[in-house]
Amino acid sequence: MALAIFQFPCLSDNYGVLIHDEASGRTASIDAPDAAAVQAALAETGWTLTEILTTHHHADHTDGNLALKEATGCTIVGPSYEADKIPGIDQKLSEGDVYDFAGHPVHVIWTPGHTLGHIAYFLPEDGIAFAGDTMFALGCGRVFEGTLPQMWQSLQKLAALPDETIVYCGHEYTESNFRFAVTIDGGNAALLARGEEIRKLRAEGKPTVPTTIAAEKATSPYLRADDAAVRAAMKLPDAPAADVFAAIRTAKDNFK
Ligand SMILES: [Zn+2]
Repeated sequence: MALAIFQFPCLSDNYGVLIHDEASGRTASIDAPDAAAVQAALAETGWTLTEILTTHHHADHTDGNLALKEATGCTIVGPSYEADKIPGIDQKLSEGDVYDFAGHPVHVIWTPGHTLGHIAYFLPEDGIAFAGDTMFALGCGRVFEGTLPQMWQSLQKLAALPDETIVYCGHEYTESNFRFAVTIDGGNAALLARGEEIRKLRAEGKPTVPTTIAAEKATSPYLRADDAAVRAAMKLPDAPAADVFAAIRTAKDNFK
């Protein structure tokens, strides 16, 4: 049976996501940005929380952990690499582990860069991935703890997932990501068309997330670091793609 998925905005620009398996009644929250917002989503869906799948330790992804555990008795799973920073963690997951969610395999992909221990979750049988703060629609997370080459490798791991994979991200940053992307890749017709879609969705108050791997590979400057036009825009025609990526991520840090 397909999983039911419920995405909801919370805090200033975070997304919470619940996934639910009808047969078993199990429900997982992908991260726990805000306990009250997760509780409201549970009330709206009528689902009972059984587990939290944590992507990384930042407060806007884990602040709800202890209150939700207290209220529901849920178990908390998350990255082994930064387990000491995940409140209430019960089970530690590492690269290559496969977590069982009610018969749906959940593959653990280590994606260091934004934080050193960050993990993403990929459910191949469901065609969905939860990228946390590693990949955003038209963007990628700021590199706080890891290195730029690490972040490039992490994005490459996600880009290698099947094109049709539906990718959920931790934040709604897409409009600002688009404004930056056109300064680099403004000749990309797919990017311009996507910008028009994003503008419409946001004007209607709708989310631009989830995205897909295919859409990101076609339009995200971070994943197009080996494209000739992107290289030329960054004035790095002959540099390795990882260096072009590093220049793009650094330019974004300083983009207003
Ligand atoms: Zn974060």
